[in-house]
Amino acid sequence: PVDRSPEIQEARLKLPVLAEEQVIMEAVRENPCVVICGETGSGKTTQVPQFLYEAGYASGSEIIGITEPRRVAAVSMSHRVAKEMNLSTRVVSYQIRYEGNVTSDTKIKFMTDGVLLKEIQKDFLLQRYSVIIIDEAHERSVYTDILIGLLSRIVPLRNKKGMPMKLLVMSATLRVEDFTDNTKLFRTPPPVIKVDARQFPVTIHFNKRTPMEDYTGEVFHKICKIHRMLPPGGILVFLTGQAEVHNLCRKLRKAFPYRKGNTTTGEDEDEETSETMRKFKKAKQKKTVSLPRIDLDNYSALPVDEGDEDREAGIGDEEDEGSDLDIGDDPASIEEKADPSIPLYVLPLYSLLAPEQQAKVFRPSPHGTRACVVATNVAETSLTIPGIKYVVDCGRVKKRFYDRVTGVSSFRVTWTSQASANQRAGRAGRTEPGHCYRLYSSAVFGDFSLFSEAEITRRPVEDLVLQMKDLNIDKVVNFPFPTSPSAEALVAAEQLLVSLGALKEPPRTGRVKEMEQARLSCPITPLGRAMASFPVAPRYAKMLALGRQQDCLPYVIAVVAAMTVREIFEDLDRPACSEDESSKLIQRRARLTQMRRLWAGQGASLLLGDLMVMLGAVGACEFAGCTPKFCEENGLRYKAMVEIRRLRGQLTNAVNAVCPEVGVFVNPKMTPPTEHQVVCLRQIVLAGLGDHLARRVQAEDILDPKWKNGYKTPLLDDPVYIHPTSALFKTLPDFIVYQEIMETTKMYMRGVSAIEAEWIP
Ligand code: ADP
Ligand code: MG
Repeated sequence: PVDRSPEIQEARLKLPVLAEEQVIMEAVRENPCVVICGETGSGKTTQVPQFLYEAGYASGSEIIGITEPRRVAAVSMSHRVAKEMNLSTRVVSYQIRYEGNVTSDTKIKFMTDGVLLKEIQKDFLLQRYSVIIIDEAHERSVYTDILIGLLSRIVPLRNKKGMPMKLLVMSATLRVEDFTDNTKLFRTPPPVIKVDARQFPVTIHFNKRTPMEDYTGEVFHKICKIHRMLPPGGILVFLTGQAEVHNLCRKLRKAFPYRKGNTTTGEDEDEETSETMRKFKKAKQKKTVSLPRIDLDNYSALPVDEGDEDREAGIGDEEDEGSDLDIGDDPASIEEKADPSIPLYVLPLYSLLAPEQQAKVFRPSPHGTRACVVATNVAETSLTIPGIKYVVDCGRVKKRFYDRVTGVSSFRVTWTSQASANQRAGRAGRTEPGHCYRLYSSAVFGDFSLFSEAEITRRPVEDLVLQMKDLNIDKVVNFPFPTSPSAEALVAAEQLLVSLGALKEPPRTGRVKEMEQARLSCPITPLGRAMASFPVAPRYAKMLALGRQQDCLPYVIAVVAAMTVREIFEDLDRPACSEDESSKLIQRRARLTQMRRLWAGQGASLLLGDLMVMLGAVGACEFAGCTPKFCEENGLRYKAMVEIRRLRGQLTNAVNAVCPEVGVFVNPKMTPPTEHQVVCLRQIVLAGLGDHLARRVQAEDILDPKWKNGYKTPLLDDPVYIHPTSALFKTLPDFIVYQEIMETTKMYMRGVSAIEAEWIP
């Protein structure tokens, strides 16, 4: 029996999910798998585990497990449920990547999906659990999708073995066909229980125009207006990332100060300690006579079984963005004449925020103040903030974005989906009628996609396959994905990973059928495990793994960051808008050409080609403090350079985690690589881009004039070319590797480096 306090009991009774307790528990008793849909705030996360507990699902030695795609939800929901049940956190506990409070008394365990995936690696039958709840399934995170696929097999297995287990899938939206109408996943479709939410009307206000650049400035104006002109009620603001959240909180606190309310924390600045500076100076290049060679078997990897606990800090989650960057106050804040006499109780909310700070959003704001929660999309469905009457939605979301051409990933801010925007708006109508201010026009909203696509279809599969192999799922092709990538894509991915050394080559048995099978179930290598820990495409991950040789790592990190972000140069070939601009463009183009030549270096450096230009550009920009002025003057895209800066920090941490003894750091005053290092870098680049090899067509082979200056690649019938802006346009080396091929007026290779014939394996 659970001994709840009267206040808790009263609050619970108001939750729509409570009316469905009987229906839910009956469905769970009679079916191995059940799907529950209900609006955010209807009580799914906090109440369903309690129903199961009270029905005796944790009365034996088995426990109840709940997965969340976000750490913030795992931690705060475990605390909330412990409090509601009047039980200690020894009994209702959580486990996330780096920490947890699970004990031998734990009966209800909240965890991130990554944690459960790692547990499946150790015990496929999950024998500790009597029931697993997959929460926030609508988010369609890769790990959640993979978990549902795995559990669709584990649950029947457990039943067969006479140790029955239940699976509950919970979603905030009704769009669950991918789980229910998918016979590969569940042969008998699981029942779907809909929980009707109590929702007050929310009036939607669209902007007439849509600010494209300074949307955070617009958000600030809107909050000021609401706060000064509209009746009491909390404001919830949706922004895209941690840096934006902090900047807005700072501006709001300045405009509407709340006594001693300034609790800004966690704003880490990029700084270099003198210690690391010394280290770098000490690590200066030694002079060797012969040309260095990269040892392809000498890569950074932790010994097996020492890998990181889990990787839930995933994909599509704003907390993975790296260090917090100060974008600076925008001029709008100066114009805004705020009335500082009205206190605004400003609270940030994002995944990486400390739990004590997060807990503040659930408490009533101090008397005589208005609460204003500035959040990323954690507040969209994972957390319900009480007392919100106004929602301000910037309409954007930060997502890890994968380029289908290059397989490269980066963080980008894009428009959200209509479904997400509606979830955000819904936050305003929980306790009374509310208002949602969309800072974009209704026409722009009409262009949003209806739903966010399942993440699995947006990822390059070689990356995904490597992740799954890292979880010891060897036969990825047979895997019951809720939404599956194509079989061809999976096969190609497996082959690429074998060629990169991330997977073990299948034994050559000679029998076609066996070979086929083996090729689709290659196990992961230690190198593969190291590569899986770098948040970039496997080709680039391979470069990072080899990078510590000859002190090349800082250069490899910079090049990989630049290749991942892409489009680092401004498009100056675009048509000019006016006479005046035309002459300016000509000047800037000339300047960029000159700079490219400078960054390409001389002599040996030239052969690293376009990657040397990237390296030079990144080094020079960082040296100049990565200012908009420097970028403008030298034809660099400022936004790209800022992204590269973040990614360098993130990759540096990842490499240090895998190979702590290298102690690499981001040096803003990086000196250019030596000739020897350039040779090594070219080999490292080849090791990653080995399948992007092209050979210059020899004079005697030119039967068709179009092949003049052309290159032959293994997969294309037609020639490809080096672009006139490439550092190697005039050199035309015999063998090159390229980052990608883009078809414009011709098929052009981008990101070209020269390699030596004898290096080709
Ligand atoms: P769902 O999972 O359906 O979105 P929840 O179970 O998360 O719903 O939330 C149900 C209710 O519990 C909400 O009204 C929310 O405000 C309240 N709640 C959740 N966590 C807390 C907390 N830490 N403090 C106070 N109230 C909370
Ligand atoms: Mg929930």
